[in-house]
Amino acid sequence: MLKPFLYPCYLFIKCAAYVFQHIFVIFHNHCSTRMHIVIIGNGISGITAARHIRKQSDFRITVISKESEYFFSRTALMYVYMGHMKFEHTKPYEDWFWKKNRIELLFDEVKSISKAQQTLLLTSGGTVSFDLLIIASGSKPNKFGWPGQDIIGVQGLYSKQDLENMQQLTSDAKHAVIVGGGLIGVEMAEMLASRNIKVTFLIREKNFWDGVLPKEEAMMIGSHIRDHHIDLRTETNLVEICPDTNGKVKSITTDKGDIVECQFVGLTVGVSPVIDFLKDSGIECNRGVLVNEYLETNVTGIFAIGDCAEFRTPLPNRKPVEQVWYTGRMMGETIAKTICNKRSVYNPGIWFNAAKFFDIEYQTYGWVFPNLKEGEQAFYWQHPVEKISLRIHFNKQSRAVNGINVFGIRLRHESCDKWIHEGRSIEFVLEHLPEANFDPEYYRQYESQIIQKFNRENSGANLSLKSKRGLWQKKIRIMKSKF
Ligand SMILES: Cc1cc2nc3c(=O)[nH]c(=O)nc-3n(C[C@H](O)[C@H](O)[C@H](O)COP(=O)(O)OP(=O)(O)OC[C@H]3O[C@@H](n4cnc5c(N)ncnc54)[C@H](O)[C@@H]3O)c2cc1C
Repeated sequence: MLKPFLYPCYLFIKCAAYVFQHIFVIFHNHCSTRMHIVIIGNGISGITAARHIRKQSDFRITVISKESEYFFSRTALMYVYMGHMKFEHTKPYEDWFWKKNRIELLFDEVKSISKAQQTLLLTSGGTVSFDLLIIASGSKPNKFGWPGQDIIGVQGLYSKQDLENMQQLTSDAKHAVIVGGGLIGVEMAEMLASRNIKVTFLIREKNFWDGVLPKEEAMMIGSHIRDHHIDLRTETNLVEICPDTNGKVKSITTDKGDIVECQFVGLTVGVSPVIDFLKDSGIECNRGVLVNEYLETNVTGIFAIGDCAEFRTPLPNRKPVEQVWYTGRMMGETIAKTICNKRSVYNPGIWFNAAKFFDIEYQTYGWVFPNLKEGEQAFYWQHPVEKISLRIHFNKQSRAVNGINVFGIRLRHESCDKWIHEGRSIEFVLEHLPEANFDPEYYRQYESQIIQKFNRENSGANLSLKSKRGLWQKKIRIMKSKF
């Protein structure tokens, strides 16, 4: 109990603390709101940066984009076309999220940047000033100057508007041609096939995506695409796209002399960074916006992240421009730390990627190049009938695993990442494969067949599986011992 004469002191201290606390908040907010962070682009990179800056500061944040009012998942666009979801469902956050978190969204497009005045000129005619600027303007589909590439019915697949155009242009289409075999090309083939549109798919490579996949997998996926009744034509280039009398696409010709009648042409020959609006800005660009390892451009206070950023010095084995979802997200997180006074180097860790070729899921971890590198060895297993495979590239001498490619089996990212990071041997990885298996319960398991193949091919090898059940029992034992 307080003595009566101490009450006034107690009240005084409480009042002083209250006043001090409010003065501090007002001062802090005043200082903070002075700092205005402007982000060009509301894709995964820009939005991740915005969310993480908000988590760590009270800065004013504005995100500008004219593609969509709210952030959506670009990777899910195909499912909207195929009727599996509505566009509304591609938005990872509710519409109220942005206001609640004080992230201002400006539905506009940046026309040009004045670095001296720290302002952006918008296509609507307005201007926005910034203290710090993050360029996260993403990519656009490539076009290579083919005759007819701009006629009605010819397009790439990148934006929400591309999806809407494709929906409209293919509503009566009977036959479509896709040019360029990569991940977006195969998605487009699946989309069109889902609407019973006949698809001719031109790729210049000998086997599907063989610039990335080793020959066995490239052949397997090629045959899978054909199994889905896609007319896949390898080593075939587009020559010309021809219009009908209304200016709409009527046919294409190939360098093999073939003419294919079609009502739609999808150009999926890669993407390039969106940097046109940076012309004359003084921000150095090459293919993309040039950045150092801190994602800083040549102009102090201006950064670039995601698909549009190009590293002056790429990390070993990595490309200067990386156009994948998760690297964009990581760059967004990194830049948020830097802006919130924790200057951080971009460190994406071990490479991974995932995609789908119709119903075959593909995952890759670490480095699996189409051809073995010096000092490397491969172990490859493929199911005798089904399109399921596992490949591990490893160092011949140390046996350390460099990379894992898997089709039709789902592996746990955490396990693969850890094994490669720890330099685990091929033998260790094979014996522990059940630990990484992420397929739903009751799915068929192939680890025994995989390990048997390894034992047959490597004289003296006598690997045995550390069973999944065994691992769970071990985990349960550990948990029990803790309680
Ligand atoms: C169909 C499709 C499927 C994909 N699937 C996968 C996948 O399965 N896995 C994977 O890893 N990656 C996938 N990707 C790639 C992945 O989506 C991109 O790497 C990622 O979206 C890039 O994010 P970003 O934020 O850097 O740029 P973006 O998502 O391109 O966002 C940039 C935004 O900036 C806006 N913008 C551009 N210029 C201006 C300007 N001047 N003013 C205002 N706004 C501007 C653009 O309109 C856009 O909204 C896919 C891409 C596509 C198109």
